Amino acid sequence: MSNRCDDPSRLRLRTFDRAVERLSRRDLLRLFGQAGAAALLAPLGVRGLSAQALFGDYPFTLGVASGDPLPDGVVLWTRLAPKPLEGGGMPMANVEVGWEVAEDRTFRTIVQQGVALARPELGHSVHVEVSALRPGREYFYRFHAGSEASQVGRTKTAPAADAVVDTLRFAVCGCSHYEMGYFTALGHIANEAVDFVFHTGDYIYESRDDGGRDPNRVRRHHGSEIYNLVDYRNRYAQYKMDRDLMAAHHSAPFIVSWDDHEVDNNYAGDHDEHGTPAEVFMLRRAAAYQAYYESMPLRAATLPSGPHMRLYRKLSFGRLIDLSVLDTRQWRTDQACGDGSHSACAEADDQARTILGVEQEQWLLDGLAQKRATWTVLGQQVPTYVRDMKAVAADARYSMDKWDGYAVSRRRLYSRLQEAKTPNPIVLSGDVHLHFGADLKADYRDVRSATVGVELTNTSITSNGDGTSVQEGWDRIQSDNPHIKMHSAKRGYISCTATPKAMRADFKIVERVSTAAEPSKSAGVLVVEAGHPGAHVA
Ligand code: FE
Ligand code: CA
Repeated sequence: MSNRCDDPSRLRLRTFDRAVERLSRRDLLRLFGQAGAAALLAPLGVRGLSAQALFGDYPFTLGVASGDPLPDGVVLWTRLAPKPLEGGGMPMANVEVGWEVAEDRTFRTIVQQGVALARPELGHSVHVEVSALRPGREYFYRFHAGSEASQVGRTKTAPAADAVVDTLRFAVCGCSHYEMGYFTALGHIANEAVDFVFHTGDYIYESRDDGGRDPNRVRRHHGSEIYNLVDYRNRYAQYKMDRDLMAAHHSAPFIVSWDDHEVDNNYAGDHDEHGTPAEVFMLRRAAAYQAYYESMPLRAATLPSGPHMRLYRKLSFGRLIDLSVLDTRQWRTDQACGDGSHSACAEADDQARTILGVEQEQWLLDGLAQKRATWTVLGQQVPTYVRDMKAVAADARYSMDKWDGYAVSRRRLYSRLQEAKTPNPIVLSGDVHLHFGADLKADYRDVRSATVGVELTNTSITSNGDGTSVQEGWDRIQSDNPHIKMHSAKRGYISCTATPKAMRADFKIVERVSTAAEPSKSAGVLVVEAGHPGAHVA
């Protein structure tokens, strides 16, 4: 297991924590006087002086979250933000936040508790890495600050490393543009109380308030396009106050990855889409990455350093699932042929191109040779399979932002899956705002070539809105791409059930996102049988 306690950045942070804990009481006394400091430092369970004096308003406006489950623990997250759309509204001081983990929702059996510091440097976010919990178990958690208590979250630890696991259920989702609709599908994920949620990115969108120009947008972003740290914090805050998103976080641990819109549309490494000088764009990327860390239940091992953040990591679920989380944005070569879609782009085949970057790719390829689990899941952002769109765009058949624009990276990945006889590869992706289920082929020009795995692409939570008229032609696209086994142009998520025998993917949809509370429907089910490459319609 990577990213554990021996990680140097985590050790550094811990040492720093101890140093600051000693200072913080004195600082608080100086900043708030005796009464205020007493409220902040009130022991758990004891009603201190009113926290209103310190926070003004309820501080847990963004809810709570958990993430990156290990067999012995999870990350617990919250961020204190009494004024969520105005930078948070917290005093510029370290604030102690109590946390509790219990076996039951009513906290009768508390198994662990402690105090963490919410720091101004990190937007008063809190990331508690709980350990010494039992494997494969459901737990409940909450936070306290002053006299205020947070919402209660449900989480679940991963099964023990050598455990034979009967069933594991997880949801795959991404692309929730706030303006384009209600996050109803996230509410449906909450109702499933899965073992974990995998997020394929585009958790926020960076664009400005549309100002009512597009009549299909049912909600409005707060403010302009976001560039600096406070902008990004406020945008995450606006999203996190959404009831359905909050419910999803409260229902299960999230394993998050990002795509482009957490920073800027279709950015690639140090290139944004407007030709901004790299050294200038990197200032924006640093702000975006920091806000991402602050807003997600991530371990301290992912703490960014300027515009760099190691988000790729591996998580394991007994002998059932090995999950490698990939980052196809931070180290990719700039999109070929000026981005967009092209029918012929020789540059896309250039040997020097990479979508993962050298180090991450080596880490991934090495890891694929270590077989332990039945299912090898690669959680990432953009489709790896060929999507030939000649049916709708003869002059623009292949999108350069996907692995279609990084053909050599795709070849190296697929070759490795074959050479290493990686057990049952399942790739997860999102980004394209359509559900797809596809067989991964050694040679997409030859339908009889080997099937090297299966990819499940989740549609968006809201992006593209109801999408009623826009998506015609997808039936023709599926017939031009025989490796694609199913598609849907509606909004939704994928509900997966893994057993030692099969992986079942239930492509969930809602009819529309312009109205709230639409019921959950199924757009189809694909099943992959272990040991038999390829998906079939159930
Ligand atoms: Fe998107
Ligand atoms: Ca995207």
